[in-house]
Amino acid sequence: MMELRDVTKTYDQGRRTVQAVRGVSLRIVGGEFVSIMGPSGSGKSTVLHLLGALDTPSSGAALFDGRDLRAMSDRERSHLRRTRIGFIFQFFNLLPTLKGGENVALPLLLAGKSRGEARKLAEASLERVGLSDRIDHFPEEMSGGEMQRVAIARALVTNPEAVLCDEPTGNLDSVTSEEILTLLRGLPESGRCAVVMVTHDAYSASYADRIVHIRDGRIESEVRKHNIGARGQESGIKDQESRETVQDTGIAPSRAASVRPDA
Ligand code: ADP
Ligand code: MG
Repeated sequence: MMELRDVTKTYDQGRRTVQAVRGVSLRIVGGEFVSIMGPSGSGKSTVLHLLGALDTPSSGAALFDGRDLRAMSDRERSHLRRTRIGFIFQFFNLLPTLKGGENVALPLLLAGKSRGEARKLAEASLERVGLSDRIDHFPEEMSGGEMQRVAIARALVTNPEAVLCDEPTGNLDSVTSEEILTLLRGLPESGRCAVVMVTHDAYSASYADRIVHIRDGRIESEVRKHNIGARGQESGIKDQESRETVQDTGIAPSRAASVRPDA
């Protein structure tokens, strides 16, 4: 449903140009939870922005549901982002002057829904993340974990086909992080929604079905988990492939064996 084909992305930084992405090919299918892992500056956020139509490639093709992003107008890309993709960021990006429910309802109002309907759907979305009681609270009255759950409710309120997260637990303590990761983990399981999560943290990445390692703008290796059942079969994942790649990086899914820089 989202695909990068030999994509590069070059940025001008004054007199210097930076090659943030140097030939990445990646396919994300519906119902998959993929983590993109790599050190700071390796191009993770850029890849996520390209997948989510926040940016377009310098060369190569980025496709959403088979459509080339560069063949769309800015308006079409913005409509695509608003209606079919949910975004979750490290610092939550809630509007401080709006209450929880209003933050969640905003994407619907921007998409032209009536206030009444937006409010009803926002309530349901907040309920889904266990935060019905924060509908009339302002972000500053919430904990970090609550703000991120409101942000997740906002990302889900349009019932998107893909949820893209950039370091969603980067600003949270470990207990709260687990709650957020569990919530994200549940999304593909409760529908065909694909989740792509950027992280530099091996423990967070271990929640995913597939971990894509990025270094210096290139995919270095990929790990697919064994026990992903029907979803894995649908996306054509072979067991053989899993075994080979798991040995490459040896990311352990257990907490004890992983490194948590923030723990
Ligand atoms: P990561 O998310 O892995 O930390 P990024 O994708 O944010 O990495 O950045 C990769 C490289 O591209 C970095 O050198 C960064 O400075 C550069 N870069 C990213 N976005 C921009 C931008 N909008 N303008 C200029 N340079 C950028
Ligand atoms: Mg980043």
